[in-house]
Amino acid sequence: MWTPIAEEAARATRVLHPESLQLPRPRHRRVITVANQKGGVGKTTSTVNLAAALALHGLRVLVIDLDPQGNASTALGVEHRSGTPSVYEVLIGELSLADAAAVSSQSDKLYCVPATIDLAGAEIELVSMVARESRLKEALSSEALDEIQPDYVFIDCPPSLGLLTVNAMVAAKEVLIPIQCEYYALEGLGQLLRNIELVQAHLNPTLSVSTILLTMYDGRTKLADQVTSEVRGHFGDTVLRTVIPRSVKVSEAPGYGQTVLAYDPGSRGAMSYLDAAREIAEYGAEKGTE
Ligand code: ATP
Ligand code: MG
Repeated sequence: MWTPIAEEAARATRVLHPESLQLPRPRHRRVITVANQKGGVGKTTSTVNLAAALALHGLRVLVIDLDPQGNASTALGVEHRSGTPSVYEVLIGELSLADAAAVSSQSDKLYCVPATIDLAGAEIELVSMVARESRLKEALSSEALDEIQPDYVFIDCPPSLGLLTVNAMVAAKEVLIPIQCEYYALEGLGQLLRNIELVQAHLNPTLSVSTILLTMYDGRTKLADQVTSEVRGHFGDTVLRTVIPRSVKVSEAPGYGQTVLAYDPGSRGAMSYLDAAREIAEYGAEKGTE
């Protein structure tokens, strides 16, 4: 997409000098679950980069890594070896959220509750627990968040619709669905939306899909444009105007324990995540969800 040079330069300045742009605080604390049971669509990449973009521009952000793979913890430079205080101990009621949260190496306003491999067994362990669907919601009470005071909480889900994802949907008001711009992108989306409706009907009536983010857009393919217009046709304004391009820098960053905003701030990937974060922040400041 062609944009005027002046606009490009202004964007670069915002990325390279984060202090030059302060994003507005939301009217209410926003708890956003990033979900799609399809694997590899950009859930984790979007969670960590949006979180970092908001934090680098003045907001307080907490990321909860709810995937035993621990990819979000890795990208945020947070320890997650087995035995590290993590979201697992929070779910089984052994630790408070604040005690499990670590400050990310990416920003002192960015916190992460890491996931360790211990979480892999939680899906089964939770089955027999009291209030098994609302363990995370309980852990996210406003008293529990007093210490961290986040403006935004992002919950990075595993690629399944099991109990961990259900916990994330019960704990949040909003769902952000990343959709990869490729052929099979829309497959499985119906199932995801039905599950969200089930959670709305039985467990969390306030839940809604507030945000859809198109990821890994490859401008060289016609297909990417077809997927983009199909998704926009279906979901209208819920889809962010910003589309995240496929970019090698985005995929390299986690290997250095970094978000792309730190790894290569001037790259298209970094700028587009900042643009997407700005849209999210502006929505939160204007409309909110309460
Ligand atoms: P999972 O379902 O396994 O949790 P996910 O939905 O969290 O996956 P990611 O881990 O964010 O997906 O991304 C999948 C892969 O695609 C990763 O290797 C990531 O680095 C890469 N990737 C994500 N976004 C981009 C992008 N914009 N450009 C290039 N590569 C990307
Ligand atoms: Mg992931």
